[in-house]
Parts: sequence; C-alpha cells; structure tokens
Amino acid sequence: EFMYQQGENHMAANIQAPKGTKDILPKNSGTWQLVEDVMRDEASIHGFEEIRTPVFERTELFERSVGDTTDVVQKEMYTFLDKGNRSISLRPEGTAGVVRALLEHALINEGVPQKFYYLISCYRYENTQEGRQREFHQFGCEAFGAAAPVADAELIALAHGIFERLGIRNLSLEINSIGCPECRAKYHAALKAFLEASKSELCDTCLERLDKNPMRILDCKTPSCGEITQNAPVMKDYLCHECAEHFTAVQEYLDAAEIEYTVNPRIVRGLDYYTRTVFEFISNDLGAQSTVCGGGRYDGLVKQMGGAQTPALGFAMGMERLLLIMQAQGIQLPEPPVCELYIAPLGKQAQIKAFAFTNMLHQASIKAECDMCDRSLKAQMKYADKIGALFTLVLGDDELKHNQAELKNMKTGEKTSISLGDTFLTEFVAAATQAEDMMALNMDELSVDLESFKQFEKE
Ligand code: ATP
Ligand code: MG
Repeated sequence: EFMYQQGENHMAANIQAPKGTKDILPKNSGTWQLVEDVMRDEASIHGFEEIRTPVFERTELFERSVGDTTDVVQKEMYTFLDKGNRSISLRPEGTAGVVRALLEHALINEGVPQKFYYLISCYRYENTQEGRQREFHQFGCEAFGAAAPVADAELIALAHGIFERLGIRNLSLEINSIGCPECRAKYHAALKAFLEASKSELCDTCLERLDKNPMRILDCKTPSCGEITQNAPVMKDYLCHECAEHFTAVQEYLDAAEIEYTVNPRIVRGLDYYTRTVFEFISNDLGAQSTVCGGGRYDGLVKQMGGAQTPALGFAMGMERLLLIMQAQGIQLPEPPVCELYIAPLGKQAQIKAFAFTNMLHQASIKAECDMCDRSLKAQMKYADKIGALFTLVLGDDELKHNQAELKNMKTGEKTSISLGDTFLTEFVAAATQAEDMMALNMDELSVDLESFKQFEKE
C-alpha cells in the first residue's frame, strides 16, 4: 500500500499550510457540517435567509465600515494591489460586505426587516494561538430596518438557540449599551479626562485611540491598559433617556424569553460601527480567547456607507472557537454512517456486478461502495469495518452462479440471503429496514423508505 511519513516533503516545495490556517480534514468536516446545519436551521426558523458575498472587497469598504481606528483595519487586514492597481482586502468580517450588497441591490426596498445569515471564511493577520487564526470561519446574522428593542432580544435569542441546540453549557451572555453618538460624545469626554492622567502608561495604539475613539481603550488586550481602565467611568452612567429606555426594554424581552445575562459595562466590541446594545457570549473553556460570539446594534453604519438612515443589528460567531468549546465539553454530534452497504467482489465478473449494484444503489441515494483497490477478501472486510459499513455483501463465483448472496449485518453479525436479480434493491432495503428495529438504529440514515423503492423498481 502507499504509505508516506506525515509531513514528508515529496516534492521540492515545502508542503505546509500557511501560518494561521488549518485544513479541515474529513475526520472533522462531518462535525462542521452538523454544526452548520444547526445554524442554518435556527437562522431559517427565525426568518433569516442566506447571503453570499465576495471573499474580497475594495479596501476602502472596510476602512469606512469597520473603522480605521480598529485593530482589524490598522493591523490585521490582508491588503494588496490587484493587477489593475486597485487596493483589495480579504474580508476580515462579514458585516461590511452584507451592507454593501444591501445598498448595491437596494434590498431594503423589498420590505423590512431584511434578515440575512452567512457562513464564511475571514482573514486577519493576527498572532496565532489556539482559537485565534489568520483564516477562520464565522457564522453571522444581520438584520436591517428593525429599530425596536425586541429586535435586539430576538437576535440574541437566535444565537442563544444555537448554543442550546448544540448542548453547549456554561456560556455567559454579557450585554451592555454603548449609547448613541450624542450621549457617547459626553461619555468620551469624561473617559478622556480620566485617561489623560495615565496617558504616559497607555500603549501606543491606545494613545492614538485617546483622541479618535477612547472607548476602544476599554477593549485593549495590553495588561497595563486594562489596569488603567479598571476604575474608568462607564457608559451606563451617561446614556441618554432614549438609549437607557432601549437598553431596559432589551432586558425585559430577554427576561421574557428566560435568557440569562449579566450587564457588563466593559463590553464595547472591537469594531467602530456599534451603537446601543452590544453583547458577547463568553466561555471559560476557551482560555484567553474567551469570546465565542459577539454582536450588537449598528444603527449608524448604513447611512455612513451612503444609504438612508437604517437601524441595523447583527452578530458573528467564531466557528473554530465554538468547536473548541464543544470539544472541551465532550459534546459529540451523532454522525450518520458513511456507508450503508459495502460490496466485496472476488474476481472480474463479480467486480462488474458489484459496480453495477453500487451504481444502482447510488441512483437510489443509498451510500454504497465496492472495492477499488483489487484487495483480498480479508483486506476488503477490514476496510468495510473501518468505514463503518452497516451491511456487507460478498460476491464470489458461487454467488454469481446461484444469483444469490448473503447480506451481512455488521452490527449483529446476522446474515440474510438476498437475490442478485431484479429484486436486489427491494430485498436489500427490506432486510435493512427490518434490521433497523432490531438494532434500535435510527435509520433516517437509510434515506428512502421501502414503498418508494418498490416504486423505483417498477419504473
Ligand atoms: P477578539 O477580541 O477575540 O479578538 P474580536 O472582537 O476581534 O475578537 P469579532 O470581530 O467580534 O471578534 O468576531 C466575532 C467572533 O469571531 C469572535 O467572537 C470570535 O469567536 C471569532 N474570531 C475573531 N477573530 C478570530 C480569529 N482570529 N480566529 C478565530 N476566531 C476569531
Ligand atoms: Mg480581534
């Protein structure tokens, strides 16, 4: 067999994924798909529809939306000139592209609210650690045209619903309000006055932020900045009447939905476009990278991007971090078998028959495989075992001669004789369906029921 050392360079080039990227291998992609299915389903239940936007956009789009005082734009973007001398950036997040598409296609004219979800890869040039990659994946939701506080709670409920359905425990939901441009201006002034005293101890980035966007300093990951802001004034005490009312209402709706949360005045989010409600889902199972989902309201962004004043809100969940939590909590999703029937042929004639049968099974959407490597019977059975085949069928000279073979149930060892003639498919499904009860197997796995097979054979 073909074996080579893991990581062996069998070409001159160095065969290694770029730093900060990870292959998602077949042994893991099943889990990714199951998690994504839950996300798609939950979003759909809440009336969100999928949107797909380009992996790259004009750099200016991110500078204008994410904001040029953010770490993301200042330090983390993958920016390059294309062959037409345009400045292009790989998307560091999903919201900017969605807002661009909303405006470009005037989707808001189709009625409000407009509700979108996406499953995307994102790119940020970061110091890589567990749960912090340069290519990573997000599930996100965005809603446009809903100003009422119930929309904030509904969006949080969607994210919460996904965690519940995945069986994730011990997440804390932390919420805050960062007000509107009016009340935040007063807060910024107070915060700036407070920070002025410790100016010399701030990191370089925060020193720049002090004038442009001092609230960002609360989000700084440099420990010394964290210490300085410990006793800083908080936005909560500066909210205007409308913003305070909105925040109280959001909490009432969360209470009504029995979603637990704590108000954390230090949650400010890493991106510039947020207003009023901001929230994070935080886990203890993630080490330093504790935020698995972050979001909030961004009522100013659409207008800032050239559209009409449009209330908006959204969140993004980090797929890698979510999967790390599931792993830490020992959560395993049931994966359907890769193979329902493995056919083991011995000899040329049998191989032709095996191929014809698997082809027929495939047309009926049944997962089936036959030998592709000219293996011995023993090696074939070992393979069938490895791929978790539910049933196997050996085809040798005798079986072909009598047009009859033994279907072996790999879980119970039980054997059933089935015909290799026209009724093969029906007999297989009948045997498999019967075994289903005995094995107490949930065979949604067997995708089609007996009746539809009879139908199929008549055609
Ligand atoms: P952090 O504070 O951890 O850097 P952030 O505020 O930059 O996060 P957002 O821009 O809000 O993160 O992105 C939403 C979610 O995407 C995060 O909560 C996290 O789960 C995930 N995420 C962000 N950056 C990365 C990354 N480099 N690698 C993996 N996941 C990430
Ligand atoms: Mg970040």
